[in-house]
Amino acid sequence: MQTFPCPFCGPRDETEFHFATEAGRARPEPAAEVSDEDWAAYLFAAHAPKGTVREIWLHLPCGEYFVLTRNSVTRAIHGAKPLPGVPA
Ligand SMILES: [Zn+2]
Repeated sequence: MQTFPCPFCGPRDETEFHFATEAGRARPEPAAEVSDEDWAAYLFAAHAPKGTVREIWLHLPCGEYFVLTRNSVTRAIHGAKPLPGVPA
């Protein structure tokens, strides 16, 4: 079992969190001109790199999304921050 830090609630058991997406991915725009293939790649093609990654996670009890920086190989947590524009 692992502990994740919620920027709003503090350290909590990993079972309280849900992975949302990789951080920093640009949504294809304009939507009316995006092909089905490009949209499917945006929605379903995970990169899953090895090493330090930035991911968007949801803490289910408080309902807040945040950016988690962690190592995908060692599972070390490097930090958690609210999404830009969201006060902690
Ligand atoms: Zn929380």
